[in-house]
Amino acid sequence: MDAEIIAIGSEMLTPQRVDTNSLYLTAELNKLGIEVVTKSVIGDDRERLADAVRRAVARSGIVVLSGGLGPTEDDVTREAVALALGRKLVFNPEIAEALEQRFSRARRKMAEVNKRQAFVIEGATVLANDRGTAPGQWVEESGAVAMLLPGPPHELQAMFERQCVPRLARIVPKQAIRTICLRIAGMGESDLDTLIAPVYKKYQNPATTILAANGDLQVHLRARCATAAEADALLAEVAGPIELLLGDRVYSRNGDPLEVVTGTMLRKLHATVSVAESCTGGMLGERITSVPGSSEYFAGGFITYSNDLKIELLGVPPEILAEHGAVSEQTAEAMAVGARRRTNSTYALSITGVAGPDGGSEAKPVGTVYMGLAGAGGTEVRRRQFLGDRQRIRVFSTQMALDMLRRKLACRG
Ligand code: ATP
Repeated sequence: MDAEIIAIGSEMLTPQRVDTNSLYLTAELNKLGIEVVTKSVIGDDRERLADAVRRAVARSGIVVLSGGLGPTEDDVTREAVALALGRKLVFNPEIAEALEQRFSRARRKMAEVNKRQAFVIEGATVLANDRGTAPGQWVEESGAVAMLLPGPPHELQAMFERQCVPRLARIVPKQAIRTICLRIAGMGESDLDTLIAPVYKKYQNPATTILAANGDLQVHLRARCATAAEADALLAEVAGPIELLLGDRVYSRNGDPLEVVTGTMLRKLHATVSVAESCTGGMLGERITSVPGSSEYFAGGFITYSNDLKIELLGVPPEILAEHGAVSEQTAEAMAVGARRRTNSTYALSITGVAGPDGGSEAKPVGTVYMGLAGAGGTEVRRRQFLGDRQRIRVFSTQMALDMLRRKLACRG
């Protein structure tokens, strides 16, 4: 059974507000083995919403609506769903009574408009709202079910969890959705797709998606089967050959980012790392220390933007800077060696480059970055030419530096 989510509210059609209820609902529906196939946001417009509900009910077994159940004129969900299903709205005196009591408990007089919330779609089951005034509704229509839930997230979540999940569990066939997230470094999105498409294209289940952001690639595999064991077996059948093709470019199988993966490796090896950063201005150190417990393996770092500080704090020889420049293989090497020596860390990473938008030259255009890794066995330096804006170049640089460390640690581990 597939689901469709409709978020109702004109505010979510402005740049100020986004629909987050659907994210929560998707996660909860997935736990029941229900796939969300369509999401939409509709403004407070009765006809448009009725139109969307008609289409949704005709093509999806489960339709979840959020918002628009309040007492005011622009709360149109009840009316729109009644219109779409060709049913009447019936006044429910018990709801009106409960609303009045709620107001009197707060020592307030209920405004007449609140009675709008006491109208129920003919044949619907009322879902009590413990956290607000707007009750929800559960309506069944020719094999499909529509749920009308309040917009405020804490009200929606409590109602969905307590009242919709048990009802859904009774009507949907038992299904399990399992996912794997492989994370990959050191290759581009199109190369990745060319390499693995012959494997995943053979399968509709699991569904495969490739996500790319800032030098980080993710392959998401999502299997839907009657049992979790079957879904896991299917995932293994597809992920196995993909991993074989990608080899050591796969750095994580559970979605963990590089800073977590390298941190775990450092901890296991009782090794430490320090950083010497120029164009990334502390971003590498920030990524490493964003992981709880990183004090166990992170010695510290140097943000040496100026040549003077590279000389003073890291001991980079002035002749190297004069002869090769701050953005050079030799400077990256000297920065890493200097950071390692001054912190006594097992490894040190360095980054120096031209993040742009200015400062590029023909020999070293914007995006030229050198990343160094110093260890007991010597120092290696990579040069990369990253494309994109300043931020992208900086993030790519930290990704590459962490990946160099990961590969080095993998050889030791
Ligand atoms: P009530 O008016 O009784 O609070 P309602 O069902 O009418 O309930 P709305 O008026 O549509 O709810 O929304 C109330 C608030 O809930 C919005 O201002 C917004 O902050 C939040 N909200 C509504 N829909 C969503 C959504 N899809 N995602 C996140 N927040 C939402």
